[in-house]
Amino acid sequence: MGESQIRYAGCSCGSVRYKASGEPIRVSVCHCKDCQRRTGSAFGVGCYFPRERVEMLQGATGTFERTSDAGRWVKNHFCRGCGNTVMWETEVLSHAVGIAAGSFDDTAWLDPKLHVWADSAQRWTSFPCDAEVLSKSNIEQYRKT
Ligand SMILES: [Zn+2]
Ligand SMILES: [Zn+2]
Repeated sequence: MGESQIRYAGCSCGSVRYKASGEPIRVSVCHCKDCQRRTGSAFGVGCYFPRERVEMLQGATGTFERTSDAGRWVKNHFCRGCGNTVMWETEVLSHAVGIAAGSFDDTAWLDPKLHVWADSAQRWTSFPCDAEVLSKSNIEQYRKT
């Protein structure tokens, strides 16, 4: 399974393109306030891959570093043309890169079962009955995955 799977992704204007190979080690829906601000929506969805399985194909990104709700650094990479956040690095998952799920050309394979920072979820958000819903984050357990 998986190692030959290659998924392509990019930003809205098309100047930044990248790909991920194999299956993600974590796919999570994040309801923290910063993901709400970053997306302008109710939550962010991230697919985390080991760093060596993510490859930039074209374009250069700008970076914006912030402090997460858990007090750790998160570095967002955004397209300088359209401003889309395309991926991010985190202090706690330093061996991995999070890719913005909506940036994949094909999103039909996505089926996130993990919701984090539900404490700050917008009031009208509901969770699928088969989802794992955490009030904060459990990202530590994925450190060594
Ligand atoms: Zn762009
Ligand atoms: Zn978040």
